[in-house]
Amino acid sequence: MQNEAMQNSNMTDPFGRDITYLRVSVTDRCDFRCTYCMSEDMTFLPRKDLLTLEELDRLCSAFIHKGVKKLRLTGGEPLVRKNIMSFVRTLSRHLESGALEEITITTNGSQLAKYASELADYGVKRVNVSLDTLDAAKFHDITRRGMVGQVMEGIDAAKKAGLAIKLNMVALNGFNDHEIIPMMKWAHGEGMDLTMIETMPMGEIDGDRNELYLPLSKVRESLRENFTLTDIPYKTGGPARYMQVAETGGRLGFITPLTHNFCESCNRVRLTCTGTLYMCLGQDDAADLRAPLRESEGDELLSAAIDEAISRKPKGHDFIIDRDNKGPAVSRHMSLTGG
Ligand code: SAM
Ligand code: SF4
Repeated sequence: MQNEAMQNSNMTDPFGRDITYLRVSVTDRCDFRCTYCMSEDMTFLPRKDLLTLEELDRLCSAFIHKGVKKLRLTGGEPLVRKNIMSFVRTLSRHLESGALEEITITTNGSQLAKYASELADYGVKRVNVSLDTLDAAKFHDITRRGMVGQVMEGIDAAKKAGLAIKLNMVALNGFNDHEIIPMMKWAHGEGMDLTMIETMPMGEIDGDRNELYLPLSKVRESLRENFTLTDIPYKTGGPARYMQVAETGGRLGFITPLTHNFCESCNRVRLTCTGTLYMCLGQDDAADLRAPLRESEGDELLSAAIDEAISRKPKGHDFIIDRDNKGPAVSRHMSLTGG
């Protein structure tokens, strides 16, 4: 139920940043177990704790009425949540009304062959596909179960459906550093952007994250030996900073939470599938929106809880890869709040 007072009541945090971007983790479950993201034997949330898709829709709609213009569905793997397509279809009414500018999705690509054309039908124009290696055996190792061929079929289907594709590649020291150039050439040759991501210290994993950490400042310097990289103002609403690569004609993004703090322009908050709102990816402070959502059929309580949460959005994160401290800086896994 929409109340007039909530319409267009824009959200601005204490540091003057307008909050216009909501990332929604629709499930913490995933069909992969990427080694830097999860442990092998993850305990997932009990299904009874999950908000229904109707409740998630109510929450998203409340944010949209409060000024959110971009919505990204993520996870876990968003495309493994049951009935996810009906959720996207319902949300697309906000695209049709013009209240929302964009719905995007971050996916591991395993289910994309099945869903790409439906996503396009519901107004999705761009997808981010995570792909850390093109080598089938290495892909199977890093995801602990994934088949790279399935992701390639997904990418093909997304292309055929007319979706713009950005690849996300986590830079992993000693694992895929030698694949960065081939991946970039391939992605750009196929008309896809490529964004490199630094590993972030989130959630317990089985190995040592310090050993995997590869600063992107180093990657950029070594790329400059063979390529002409020029800073460009291109923005997709997220934290990546883009460069144009003269030799390939494509765009290369860098998400560098550790070597360059991207917080000053942060316009995002993150909602989990249990209705918890994280105001910063790199901080534990959170607000429960499930209780105000369920307490009343109207959205006044919810709106007040959102305002209170935004007033607590911190200036920035405290990520640090600490050689002496092997534990994560943030205890929750990335799969709870999404990328
Ligand atoms: N399952 C989907 C996927 O893999 O694209 C969406 C969720 S996943 C958590 C979102 C992004 O976060 C992926 O690109 C993934 O590679 C990245 N990611 C996961 N754990 C990370 C970590 N600890 N540091 C940096 N990136 C991470
Ligand atoms: Fe799943 Fe994405 Fe995490 Fe890999 S990065 S385990 S695909 S949620």
